[in-house]
Amino acid sequence: MMILLPLLGVWACFMVVLWAKRGDGRRDLRRCPRCWYSMDGQAGLKCPECGYAARIESELFQPRSHRGVFRAGLVVMVMTAAAWMWMVIPGAWTNKVPRFALRIALNMAEPYRGVPRTRTEIDQSVPNRQWMTSEVAWSRVLWQQQVNNVMRQWADAVMEKSGPITAEELPHLVELANLANESYVQTGGLAHGEGWISDVVKMDVARVRANSSDPWVKLRAEWVLSDLQYVGGDYSHRMDWGVIPEEVLQMSLAHSDTNVRLYGVDRVGVAARLKLMTPRKTQFPQVGDLVRQMAASDPDLGVRRRAKDVVSYMEAFNIK
Ligand SMILES: [Zn+2]
Repeated sequence: MMILLPLLGVWACFMVVLWAKRGDGRRDLRRCPRCWYSMDGQAGLKCPECGYAARIESELFQPRSHRGVFRAGLVVMVMTAAAWMWMVIPGAWTNKVPRFALRIALNMAEPYRGVPRTRTEIDQSVPNRQWMTSEVAWSRVLWQQQVNNVMRQWADAVMEKSGPITAEELPHLVELANLANESYVQTGGLAHGEGWISDVVKMDVARVRANSSDPWVKLRAEWVLSDLQYVGGDYSHRMDWGVIPEEVLQMSLAHSDTNVRLYGVDRVGVAARLKLMTPRKTQFPQVGDLVRQMAASDPDLGVRRRAKDVVSYMEAFNIK
């Protein structure tokens, strides 16, 4: 019952607003529509009292509207409706305020600082994981904003250059990709309905991919999106998502940087898992032989181990 009270208030306000808009209907007299001065027997359309000049004769026969009541009624109606929404929408206040307002506040509290170039800048942008499970709603949305920022850093770092992806830029891009993915993968388990905050970057990059006619821009966007779709768990909707472009895979596997090779091997493992799930839709990249070689002879122990895992997975499920 309490929950219906504000609705009753909204209805009452609506009736008042309707009444104020319609006016009190006395159309017989010629009057100034602004100050209601009687212009009976006056020539012309200009009011001698307030100086208002009507455009046409019929304006002088308009019913008197109650502009003040109309405006006040509207304001009270909107406020009552907001109060009702506040009561009805469950969860913390961060769910109840309009999202655009929350976004403005978050952008002020935790602004986006662009692509990090130095070690220090990268370390400073690591999201504060303790905030993710905080009891304080504001801390949780701040954490989402930080995740949003590292995703944007990666997307911007990939998209700020044009042309083919080069081996020189891979170490930096892979480091940002790992940071973005490690942070974003945790948002999937959020129980507070605040995950939308970090979905904005995905939508932005998807828009770039859809609107650009440059094949290299499309490839770069595809890389960002496919990786984010994989870690976000969205690949179940579109089965080819999650497999990063084969150009990037091959370049990563042959790279001199250990972290880049590790990234490549890991994404081959992802592609193998998706191949098993969806044999028809996923094109397994021609990189299996490269990973087998790495399992045998990569100079880095961590890469060898990860490559062996992927190879044994592929053999166990007969993925070629
Ligand atoms: Zn007047």
